[in-house]
Formats: sequence, C-alpha cells, structure tokens
Amino acid sequence: MSETKKSNLYEPKNVAKESPEKIERAFAFCRDYAEFLANSKTERQSVNECVKLAEAAGYREFNFGDSVKAGDKIYYVNRGHSVILADVKDNLADGVNLIAAHIDSPRIDLKPNPLYEDGGMAFFRTHYYGGLKKYQWPTIPLALIGTVVREDGTKVDICVGENENDPVFCIPDLLPHLDRGRDKKTLGEGFSGEMLNTLIASYPNGDYEKEPIVEAVLSYLKDNYNVTAEDLVSAELTLVPAGKVRDLGFDRSMMLGYGHDDKVCSYPPLRAMLDGTYTKTAVLVLSDKEEIGSDGVTGLDANYLRDFLYELAENAGVNPRLMLSKSICLSADVSACFDPTYPEAHERKNAAYLNCGVALAKYTGHGGKYGTSDAPAEVVAKMRRLFNAKGVAWQSAELGRVDLGGGGTLAKYVAKLNVEVLDVGVPVLSMYAPFEVVSKLDVYAMYEASLAFLANE
Ligand code: MN
Repeated sequence: MSETKKSNLYEPKNVAKESPEKIERAFAFCRDYAEFLANSKTERQSVNECVKLAEAAGYREFNFGDSVKAGDKIYYVNRGHSVILADVKDNLADGVNLIAAHIDSPRIDLKPNPLYEDGGMAFFRTHYYGGLKKYQWPTIPLALIGTVVREDGTKVDICVGENENDPVFCIPDLLPHLDRGRDKKTLGEGFSGEMLNTLIASYPNGDYEKEPIVEAVLSYLKDNYNVTAEDLVSAELTLVPAGKVRDLGFDRSMMLGYGHDDKVCSYPPLRAMLDGTYTKTAVLVLSDKEEIGSDGVTGLDANYLRDFLYELAENAGVNPRLMLSKSICLSADVSACFDPTYPEAHERKNAAYLNCGVALAKYTGHGGKYGTSDAPAEVVAKMRRLFNAKGVAWQSAELGRVDLGGGGTLAKYVAKLNVEVLDVGVPVLSMYAPFEVVSKLDVYAMYEASLAFLANE
C-alpha cells in the first residue's frame, strides 16, 4: 500500500522494519532467555537462577543488619520466594533507579490434602493460582515442581516431568459425545476449580484390596523423597505445563512457552543489572504473589522492599525518605498484545502491537482508572526521553478497551513508598494460557529499555 500523505499522528513502529539490524542480537538474547525460562517455572526456581547468575557476576548475599557501602553488589532473598539485587553507589541521596517485576506465574497448585483415588485411578486435588482460564489447562502434559518441608524443617525439592524421559501428569477432560450439555454453559461455569483433578497413577502395589493405588503413590513418595502424606500439608507443589519454550513461526520471530508473564520482564532487567555499569544505585526486585494481589510476606504489598531500601540509605547516612522521594521505578510487567481475531477487546489506537517494542502504560486498572498508579505525565516524559536517547523501541498502550476489564501491576505498591513509577513491559498474546506468545524483538527491547533506564542520572 503506497501512502501519498505522511501522517503526523503518533503510531507504533515495527522494529523488524525500522531496525532490522537488531534481529540477530534479539535472537541471541532470547536463546539466553529460553535457558533461564527452562529452569525458572516457579518463583523458588526463579530466585535460585537469579542468585546463581548474580553470584557469578560478583554479587554477595545480604541480610538485614549487615553493613553495606558504596561499591557493594548485594542480593537479598526473601524466604526463597522473592529476591532484591542492588548495585550500590555513593550518591544514594539522589535516589535509586529501581526496576520491579514478578516471578510468580499462573499455575495449578496441589491442595494440602491432595491424594485420592476413584475409578481405578489416583489423582491430585488442586487449587488453581492466579486468574487463569480454567478450560485451557486440561489434556496438556503437566510437570510437578515444588518443595516439601518436613515437620523437622528439612526440605526436599521435587521436579517430575521436565526431563524428556520423565513421566508427566494430566487433567483429563470429558469426550465430546458425552459432554453436549456443557456447550450451553458459560466458560466459567463449564469448568469449575474442583474439576481440575490431575491424574497421577493407576497401578496398585500388589493386592488391590490391601494396597490401593494411593498407597502405592505414598510408597513412591516415601521411597524417593522421604515424604509422608502429612508432609504434603506443609508443601508448595505445583503443576505447570511440561517442556521448554519453543521458537514460534516459520521465521522463528516469536517464542511459545509457559511463564512469560512475568519472566519476560524479569530476565531482561536482571541481565541489564549484571551487564551494565551505572552511576546511580541500581536496584531490581523480583517479587512473588503478584498474580494473586501481592499479599503475603513475600508479596510486594509487604514491607521487605521498603526495609531493604531503608537499610541502604541508613548504612550510607542518608535520610531514607529523602532517598525514596528522589527515586524512580520502572514497573516491568507484560501488556496485552493486539490480537486481530479479537479486535473487540482492544481499542486499536491505544493497543500494544507485536514487534513494536516495550509498551508504556501510564495507567492500568479498570473502569474509571480504579486500582492503578496513574503515573504523573512528567514520569512518562522522562521515560520517553531515556528510551529515545538510547534508541529503545517503545509504544504507548492501554490494557484493552475502557470498561471491558483491566488489571493491575506492582506499580501501585511501589507508589506507596513515595517512589514515582511507570509500567513498561512486553506485549503478550494468550496471556495466562499454559503457553504464551512473545516476540523476540520485544524481549530484546525490554533488555534495551532496562539498560537505558538504569543509566538514568
Ligand atoms: Mn504479570
């Protein structure tokens, strides 16, 4: 289509067209991202991967009460579920450059008393985590990942289904021949949370009467992990889609995989923390529980980030309130990518598009901007300035049509600290589905955005 008149309206630009030289770098970066993702399906695994990479880059563990000074590179782990990294400089009175992302993703958790058998099969009862669409999760291969804490405090990690030769688990679904009533129901009614029962075994141990299938499962858990039925009460075991992220498309321009929300906005800033040299203190928090409202001791509505930042300030003899008031935060979370099959969900002129870089969202929330940190225009201008100065591909986007739905991010919890904050993230197709889609150029744009943001003076 030839255009006779050049439009002066603001429009997102396709990075593959504008900056094709970035494609090769994006592909290389995404190979590293795929490796991180393979080992980071749960928040505990993500924390471990982050610590491994941070230690290799010279970071050391910090706990409250430890002394910290300019030049230190430290990480703080909050109960195995959240992690904060800081690259500490001597000008804390000027504020810090903070990036906040989350490492929990929607999934199927086991109930505390999960084991039962029926119809000659053994199952786990489950309780889904996050706002997922339940009908998307049956009939796909699931891996069991998590940690069991025994009464004496000793722990065992369990991971079954991620190696090629491992068995997997599955939530069965009814054949269509016998399911004709369900198409009259709403999607929400058609699949209730109590239907997400997961098939885990079908053989008894020897005599069926004496040794039912659940006993065989318990023997297996005892023999392999030294875990009893009561131990499962103090466990965090979760079912996630099995397998690695895959390249998507003939041109391999996209990635299909579990947990892009929000590892796709966690790994790029992590790499930016480890790769770059900055003049201001850089802080990265990778938080837990965002998908369920950031509550709980490891969620960002708790005080661990504030307390950590206070420690930095107090160790430097700086007024922490002054430091926070001069700090700025990039809230790194995914955005809804425009899907042409569902145009009614988006408002075309304010949607995020694939391959057009990171999406800046001045606000998220729902209805009349409820439940959001609507960033001051000055903050949006500053972010534009930082990104444009370094050639970062970005676009402006709302999360779907007004009045349709909406969502929240970590931004409003950061705002509580009196830190100015703006949402910036990678557009995602099929968000919350077992396998989500992102563009490699957009993932790379998130890395470039993180580098540019942390270079803010
Ligand atoms: Mn998210």
